[in-house]
Formats: sequence, structure tokens, C-alpha cells
Amino acid sequence: MGLKTAEEYIESVKDLGLQSHIMGKECADLTSHPLVRPSLKAVAQTYALAHDPAYQDLMEVKSSITGRIINRFTHIHQGTEDLVNKVKMLRVCGNATACCFQRCVGMDAANALFSVTYECDKEHGTSYHKRFLDFWTRVQDEDLVVDGAMTDPKGDRGKRPKDQLDPDLFLRVVERKKDGVVVRGAKLHQTGMINSHEIIVMPTLTMRPGEEDWAICFAIPTNTPNVHYIYGRQSSDTRKLEESGLDMGNPRYGGQEVMTVFEDVFVPEERIFLNGELDQVGKLVQRFAGYHRQSYGGCKVGVGDILIGATALIAKMNGLEKATHIQDKIIEMIHLNETMFACGIACSAMGGATDSGCYLIDLLLANVCKLNVTRFPFELARLALDVAGGLVGTMPSAKDLNDPVTGPYIRKYLASNPEFDSVDRMKVIRLIENLTIGAGAVSYLVESMHGAGPPMAQRIMLRRQAGLEEKIRRVKELLGIE
Ligand code: SF4
Ligand code: FE
Repeated sequence: MGLKTAEEYIESVKDLGLQSHIMGKECADLTSHPLVRPSLKAVAQTYALAHDPAYQDLMEVKSSITGRIINRFTHIHQGTEDLVNKVKMLRVCGNATACCFQRCVGMDAANALFSVTYECDKEHGTSYHKRFLDFWTRVQDEDLVVDGAMTDPKGDRGKRPKDQLDPDLFLRVVERKKDGVVVRGAKLHQTGMINSHEIIVMPTLTMRPGEEDWAICFAIPTNTPNVHYIYGRQSSDTRKLEESGLDMGNPRYGGQEVMTVFEDVFVPEERIFLNGELDQVGKLVQRFAGYHRQSYGGCKVGVGDILIGATALIAKMNGLEKATHIQDKIIEMIHLNETMFACGIACSAMGGATDSGCYLIDLLLANVCKLNVTRFPFELARLALDVAGGLVGTMPSAKDLNDPVTGPYIRKYLASNPEFDSVDRMKVIRLIENLTIGAGAVSYLVESMHGAGPPMAQRIMLRRQAGLEEKIRRVKELLGIE
């Protein structure tokens, strides 16, 4: 089977028959629900772009497993060029959607698991790598979307998984059977989950002796019995229920997160990729997080391009594009955005091969990348709000614009640079609102802060990876200190 088209992808998600609780109601037709539809269309762009001649070279690649042509979102990185191309691809997708297109977590989980299952088999005599290859070959051949689920609720942050009042606060094995295991728990903040065909579940942190039941990694289809989805709210989300797209800001696309509950879910043996091998868990968490921290050097930059473009356009529409202080603010935005991209490219170019043949990013630089992402989009958002002006927070609604009494007033008094229509000016202001304080800010700001781990997680990695002792040794050598 070749690469899916965007339409085939949407049909395939419809066929899954997933259900989710959305604002107090069970919804059985997710693909046409107005709160979900923009997010589905955003993922569909990762399929559409692979058929676009302008991006085919970037998005299509030969599978290292089968030799067949696959979408890069399902690829196992074979060199630093692949890692660089991944970041470039994510920037393109961010440009096309101006939101989170959700498909990267599965790619990042797969690349981490590829090397970890290989190394686990060598060290423990297990056969996880072959199982994983069988699973992933199907993902590549059928061009599937896979959610990578890592974040447990974590309960009392001061306690280990086994010491929680409720041990389910970290997903765990509750029963062991001859042909598999039964798991219970939840994964929070699951980006794109209900637009996915499969879920890879991973532990959220390094596990210690006595915590073997929490050291479990596996894959199951999203429509597995006893998996429940509860839809996450976003700021201004009910604007998606309104008729006009104008007030949405991003009228076509959006992100999506759910709380996923695993209520005694059976996982067959052939879908288990780690099961109690404590020494492999930390490595898996670190590599998955590392790949995802690299991802942000592409996707957030792509969305940043849109915010910069919108800011430059609104400056023109306001008649201010020649003001030097405005120009300087836009230059600052460009500088910050390209700095994040430079980090995404650098951690890719400095990557290296693992024993499995799969390439891993430079972990220090990937963490520098993500640490910048926890700050720079906020500064980009601040500058965009500064340039755009107060209308971002006070502009009348699309309904008032369409009202025969108020509409003419709005058009008259929101006119600015005569080269531009006042309604077009409203569209740009709404887009800036969407990305800085609206539904788009969930992905552009909150996720930039916490996705792939909050800033402290990156700072810990910086301390570990920086080779401080070596730096001290060099100083001593330079100064002749024993
Ligand atoms: Fe991909 Fe970025 Fe969304 Fe993560 S936040 S899934 S890296 S688009
Ligand atoms: Fe993310």
C-alpha cells in the first residue's frame, strides 16, 4: 500500500470509530465534530504535503526496513541528513497549518524505541526489537499516525510510583497473563491521540527496583476496548462552534489534546516492547524526550514564521511598517525564531549513530534547543502583541460585523492604511490573537513551556551533558593547577 492521501487518512480515522467525551457529551462522530475537525485537518496536511511536488523530496523517503517509499513521519533516521530533514519538514508543516500538526510524537517514540529495543535485546536476551520492527513495518506500509504517550498524571510529585496513595497515578501492569498483560492508568496531555491509529505507551520516568510493574512499554490500536478519551479544553475553543471562521483566528486548523484513560486494558505479548527491564527505562525516556526537544526546533519555528508574517502584515495595515522601532521589533522576532531553528539543525547535524544503526540527535544541543523554546515564543508573542495593538483584546465579533446596523460602523472605524480592507485587517488581528492568547496559544506557548518536559528537565540534562569536569580540568591545565 502506497502513501495515503489526506482524504484517505481522514476516512481511515473515521473507520476507527473512536469515541470521546467532549464537554459533557459522548461523541461518536469525532471526525465531523467542529471542535475536532480543525485538528484532523492539521494532521491531514502531513499527508497532503507528501503528495505536493514542492515538498515530495523532503517528505518522502526510502524505508530502511523495507526499501519501500514511506512518509518521513514514519521513518527511522539513517544519518544526520535525515535528522536535519526532519526539522526542515516540521517547519514546512508549521508554515502550512500555523498550529500543532500532532504527528511527530509517534515518529519520536519509534526512533527512541528502535535503538532501545535493540540494546535491550543484547543486554537481556529479549526479542523486543523484532516485535517492534514487525509493528513499525505495518505503520510504514499503511502510512499510519501513531501517538507517543509518555506523561503520567504523577500524583504527589514528592513520591515514587509505588508510594502513591493511588498506584494507578503512574500507568502500570495490574495482571500478568500467559499471552500478555493487563494495564491500568492514564496519560495526560495526549496530542493528536484521537486523530491517531495506534498508541505507543512508554513509562514517564526512570524506574527503580520494586517498580517493575511500572516499567512497561507497548503499542495498541487507539480503538482498543477499555481505552477512554476525555477531550481537553482550549482557550476560546467554543469559537470553533460558531458559523463564521473569522473569530477563530486560524479558520482551518488547530491542535488537540486529550486525557486518555486505560481501564484494565489487555496488551498482547507481541505488542510489548519493554516489560520490567529497569535499566532500559531511563534511556527510553531520555531519547524520546531528546527527539521531541529537537522537533520543537522545527514545528514551533514554522508557527513562529506565521506569527512574524502576521506581525509584519499588521504593521503595514496599520500604516506603521516604516517606523524604525516597529522594524526593529520584527527583526528581534526573526532573530529569536532563527535561533531556535539553528538549535534544531545543530542538534541534528551533530547527531550520531546508535548500535542499532538509527541516528540519535546530540542530546546536549537538543536540550538547548528546547530550553530556548520555553522562552522565545513567549517573547515573540509579546512583540506581536506590542506591534498589533489593543484591538487584539477588544475587537467586536464577526456577528457584529455581519449585523446591518453595527457592521458599517465596524468597517468605517477599523479602517486604517487605505491599501487594505478593514475586514482583512480584522482577520490578521484574529490570527495574532489565536496564536498569542487564543486556542493556538495552547500549542504555541503552553506546549512550548511543558511539551517534552518543562524547563527544569532541560536544565538537568544540560548539567549532565555539559562535561563540567572536563571544563574544570582544562582550566587547571591552562593555569598549571595540580
Ligand atoms: Fe509535532 Fe510540534 Fe505538535 Fe509536538 S508540538 S506534535 S513536535 S507539531
Ligand atoms: Fe509536543
